[in-house]
Amino acid sequence: MLKIFFMSFFTLFLNASSNKENINFNSNPYPLAATSDVSDKSYILYETPLSENLINKSFNRIVAEGIINDPNVIFEMWIPRDDINLSTSVVKYSVIRGELKVYKNGRFWVFFDVNFGKVSRFKIVVVNNGVKKDKFNIEIYEVQPVTVNIKRDGDDQNQYVSDDKTLSLPDDLPFKFIRRSDWNAKPPSDDYTKHIPQKITIHHTAGNYPATYDDALSEIQFIQDYHQNAKGWIDIGYHFLIDPQGNIFEGRPVLVVGAHVANKNTNNVGISIMGNYHPPVNNQLTDIEINSIITLVKYIKDRYSIVKENFYAHRDLAATDCPGDIIYSKIPYLKEKIFDNSEKSVSVMIDIDNTDLKNSLEKQLNSVN
Ligand SMILES: [Zn+2]
Repeated sequence: MLKIFFMSFFTLFLNASSNKENINFNSNPYPLAATSDVSDKSYILYETPLSENLINKSFNRIVAEGIINDPNVIFEMWIPRDDINLSTSVVKYSVIRGELKVYKNGRFWVFFDVNFGKVSRFKIVVVNNGVKKDKFNIEIYEVQPVTVNIKRDGDDQNQYVSDDKTLSLPDDLPFKFIRRSDWNAKPPSDDYTKHIPQKITIHHTAGNYPATYDDALSEIQFIQDYHQNAKGWIDIGYHFLIDPQGNIFEGRPVLVVGAHVANKNTNNVGISIMGNYHPPVNNQLTDIEINSIITLVKYIKDRYSIVKENFYAHRDLAATDCPGDIIYSKIPYLKEKIFDNSEKSVSVMIDIDNTDLKNSLEKQLNSVN
């Protein structure tokens, strides 16, 4: 009895706080993946099982993203109707056609607007619309319910600011930084909300693991597009992204509220590591990525005086697998490297002619270290 009570309580708790998590399709692990033979007769190339029941969630759109090897498809959302014919037990479906965008490399996002009423369960069906490949491959990285066109995080209108260079990190950084202009970021679709960084949260993108710099550029452009045009956010959700080569990219400017931990975005800097660091994908976390995380977080915590207790992994703040077991296992190491071993970073420029004074200053600095 007690056990049953405890379990249902736990389930309730998980449901209540898992609003950023993927929709469950018969417990199939993400990425949802399949390969199917394509013939002239193939109409349905792929379909998910029926989803979990979403009746208690509030949303007006379902978004999904992943990768396919042929763009000539249509995504549909099939919603079982109540008027099942009991004599034949044929289930009838209402069908919504998805708004689909496919990149050259096969990365796609799709959304289904469901604001006509409640949706409890559904499946995603991929329909052949002239696929040229013999085999159709699909991987779906994420399926989530979202609510678009509501008030955003950070509600004080006085804090609204338009895009401006002063919201970003300064020019004289001690590391290579790929700014928005370098990756051809789209401007935000609306004003940002200002904030002061006080926390840092580590994520993984659970998306592509870019093999080259060009792949990383394409992936970050894809993510911004998905966040703006499928999820309906004003800009890419994260403040920083790091690729497997250790490149550090600017996402949303650091001094504005991001979109990376639901209801906990204000004063929170989101750093996302590109790739999927969770079973079954288990991308490799490279040493150079780890170095870049340490370099970036050290800089941010020094610049904004952020304390160790306010350094989080996403799963510390919400019911999610993010940033994946592989990165999560490194969090204690990262914390120690960033916050404990860091000699107080001394930002004194020694650029003077008096050699004696310079030597004595250097001696002082060394003794501090
Ligand atoms: Zn996350």
